[in-house]
Amino acid sequence: MTCLICGTPYQSTPTWSKLFLNQLDSSTCTRCFEKFEVSESAIDFTDFLGTPYEGAVDSVFCLYTYNEPMKEFLHQYKFLQDIALAKVFALSLQQVFHRKEGIVVPIPMHAEKLVLRTFAQVDELLNAAQILFQQVLTKTASDSQGKKTKKERLKTSNLFEAIQTIEETNYILFDDIYTTGATIHHAAKVLKDSGAKRVDAITLIKG
Ligand SMILES: [Zn+2]
Repeated sequence: MTCLICGTPYQSTPTWSKLFLNQLDSSTCTRCFEKFEVSESAIDFTDFLGTPYEGAVDSVFCLYTYNEPMKEFLHQYKFLQDIALAKVFALSLQQVFHRKEGIVVPIPMHAEKLVLRTFAQVDELLNAAQILFQQVLTKTASDSQGKKTKKERLKTSNLFEAIQTIEETNYILFDDIYTTGATIHHAAKVLKDSGAKRVDAITLIKG
């Protein structure tokens, strides 16, 4: 097999779990994959205390830190639109999602942005990991969140709307990166206000 990151051929070792649990193959060599750093920092929700978003999210789990190799990966994947790279984290995501129960909901892109980026990067990470999801939210605001301060982001009206009936059950939000937490909190609040029992969030990266 050829590593998706460095292009070097590598040996994929067969394991029992791959055979019996229908586990996905890795798509990078060990040397490249080891450069991604597992995130161990806990997520702090204190910014949301006393705001309408307090209590919207029950837990957040981020897999990796935003280190240099991850920055390069994201650049290649998102901006250079290399969809094949969605496979790099397929195995890790599959393992994390198997431990949680609930309806998986990817954070949607605004329609205009989707045209610009050509593919839904967050959805494709889940597709590569063979994780079923429901697109129950739509993004209503098109203005770039990146230009706003954290306070401004918290004040803006909700960025999302539900486009399907929300069930009284557990939901798992998924996004590529957790930075200020505004996106996840906005999405979680829509789900909770519409009847969701519990909302957990998983992101690939802790920004
Ligand atoms: Zn490699």
